[in-house]
Amino acid sequence: MALFEVNGESPASLFFQRSSHGMAFLSPDGRILEANPAFCSMLGSARETLLSTPIDKIIGTEKDWAIRLENPSDQTDIDVRIIRNDGSILLGSANLLASETAGEDARSCRMLEIMKERKKNDELIAEVFRIASIGSWEWEIQDDEIWFSDQIQTLCDVDASEWGRRSPGLLDLVPPESRPSFQEAIDLALKGNPLDFEFRNQKPDGSVHYLHVRGLVSYAAGGKPRKLHGTVQDITDRKKVELKLLETVERYTSLKKFNHDAIFSLDLNGNIINSNAVAQEMTGYPIQEMAGKNFSLYIGGQDILDILAASKHDVNAEKRIDKIEHRNGSYAEVLTTIAPIIIHDESVGYYIISKDITEQKKLIIAKEAAESTNQAKSEFLAMMSHEIRTPMNGVIGMTDLLLETTALDAPHREYLEVIKKSGETLLSIINDILDFSKIDSGKTELIEEEFDLRACIFETVDLLAPKAQEKKLDMSFSLSPNIPSKLVGDSTRLKQVLMNLIGNSIKFTHSGSISVAVKQLARHEDQAMLKFIIKDTGIGIPREKSEQLFQPFYQLDNFMTRRSEGTGLGLAISKKLVNLMGGDIWIEHTEEPGSTFVFTVIMHEKPRVPNPSETVSGSFATEKKPRGLNILVAEDNRINQLVLIKMLENQGHRVQFVEDGNEAIEAALTERFDLIFMDVHLPGMNGLEATALIKDALKPEECPVIIAVTANALKGDREKCLASGMDEYLSKPITSKVVQDMVNKFFET
Ligand code: ADP
Repeated sequence: MALFEVNGESPASLFFQRSSHGMAFLSPDGRILEANPAFCSMLGSARETLLSTPIDKIIGTEKDWAIRLENPSDQTDIDVRIIRNDGSILLGSANLLASETAGEDARSCRMLEIMKERKKNDELIAEVFRIASIGSWEWEIQDDEIWFSDQIQTLCDVDASEWGRRSPGLLDLVPPESRPSFQEAIDLALKGNPLDFEFRNQKPDGSVHYLHVRGLVSYAAGGKPRKLHGTVQDITDRKKVELKLLETVERYTSLKKFNHDAIFSLDLNGNIINSNAVAQEMTGYPIQEMAGKNFSLYIGGQDILDILAASKHDVNAEKRIDKIEHRNGSYAEVLTTIAPIIIHDESVGYYIISKDITEQKKLIIAKEAAESTNQAKSEFLAMMSHEIRTPMNGVIGMTDLLLETTALDAPHREYLEVIKKSGETLLSIINDILDFSKIDSGKTELIEEEFDLRACIFETVDLLAPKAQEKKLDMSFSLSPNIPSKLVGDSTRLKQVLMNLIGNSIKFTHSGSISVAVKQLARHEDQAMLKFIIKDTGIGIPREKSEQLFQPFYQLDNFMTRRSEGTGLGLAISKKLVNLMGGDIWIEHTEEPGSTFVFTVIMHEKPRVPNPSETVSGSFATEKKPRGLNILVAEDNRINQLVLIKMLENQGHRVQFVEDGNEAIEAALTERFDLIFMDVHLPGMNGLEATALIKDALKPEECPVIIAVTANALKGDREKCLASGMDEYLSKPITSKVVQDMVNKFFET
């Protein structure tokens, strides 16, 4: 039975029923005895379900309900948390009073009055908004009045004090550059679309924020837009992640788009998903036509799945994709990389990256062809030189012998002189051609040995002096005193350059003089840069021809009208040699008549140390033996045999000959010879092996002097001969004088 009955029109009951405050009567133990409609709606429950419910089940306080119910009149303003039927929480304040209108058990009845606290709720909402970085706003469209929450001011960086002076528009939310597009978004929203707008805001401190405005229109009774309300949220963190992602995508897109290689992406079945522009150019198909097709179609029918499977364990598998077919049937030669596409630890496809190497391949083939042609050219020249030297040995050698015979009349002697001269010229041409081709193909290496620069120049000048004397030319040379006397370098090659230049000066000077000067240009640690100046008073050289002269085969004289001999290779060889020695060569033009050639080289200086070889060579002289020697000639070529035997016999020696290496050993071991002239290219056993065996078998004092005779004039031949135990080396063709000098080197004349 209800304790409290509402009696129709009584004011108290009207108040109870109509009050916007929640009111309820409680029993002393806190059960709900009666509740008004406001109370029911606060709790979101029907009156019937609330009756007899213990109050502490649905409304929380700071202190225990039991204590409060005991002393009802003590407390005013109790903070309460109303737990609504849907689980949400409402904050409020309450009064608890002892009821005076109660019926029979008035003492035991309590009245509870609850007021919703709008302020409290606002604070809660504001806190939530602050945590989520959201501000809210409302725009009364008709009155054009705007309300912004505090949060908006911080978010959008607008000054509230300024708003007081003028009515801020919604557009003030965004920076000036974003306003036109924001206006468009507002216009759309007023037509009923949701407002959804993102913008970038740079704060005065330079930091950049991204903000998101959302809004919805509500309508007045006539259907006109009444209000636009919405939020502004700071989405900087999300935006940063988005931008980072976008950057990654753009990087990857650029890598593909601007790549010079063709890039195809395939699915796990080898079907093309996408490709870049280079790939489309390489195949001749636009991506629309390629997409979905199997990649096998573009690699000459090879099975791409096979290759992809192999590529997982074999790094060489990708080499199988070495050609990509164009729709016109042609192929591009390619170098390919296969890269798996792995997303979230799962393989989802492959990239095929192919570099077009068609041009490089052509270049490589051309280079190889050029190299092998060059190699063939060098080999041909070396062989030609060898083959020509052998018969030339016969011509020059025999002419030499004939010239030695006394029974010659003057015209015959003249003919022979011509033959001999022609032979020598031919030989020097062969030597030049061979030398040039060797240097040209990079096969020339300089040797590093100690030498005396003064002696080197003196010997060169001495060799050429007779020719200069013939033409009555004065010759002089001078060296700066600061030039180190002992140098390290290739003196033979240096002499060759000097021979060329001084030889030319003699050749092209008809009267006057030739001078050679050497100066030190620079010095750094043990390196000295030397400058050589070769000056003549000859026919001179036109300025405009200076450069061409260093080209091979270039001569100022026309071939048909030339008066001087020569191949036109001397200067070309000299230039290459000087370059190899770290220097350069040029022609200096002066007002004086004649030509001036200048070249530089870099030589090392060596501190002078006693040279043990000097004492050895000193002892040679004392051990020289008397002439009338017992000599063995090991030579298989008949003409060469004859030339050498006759030369030696004419010089008063006893000569025997053999024709192969084995015979040479046999003869050397059975009979004691003073000297053996050993051809290197002997049938059976070659000269080098035969020498090594002889030197091995005989005691040093019984061992003959062995001199190599060869038609080879290539670098390294001399070293090979000496390494096998030979004592000296003669290059064909040989002359009586050379043979005699060689004998004299070892034996007393
Ligand atoms: P070659 O002397 O065998 O013809 P070079 O290469 O040594 O070949 O010289 C090329 C040309 O340069 C010569 O033919 C000659 O025309 C010119 N030349 C070289 N040196 C002199 C010089 N000292 N005076 C005048 N002309 C020279």
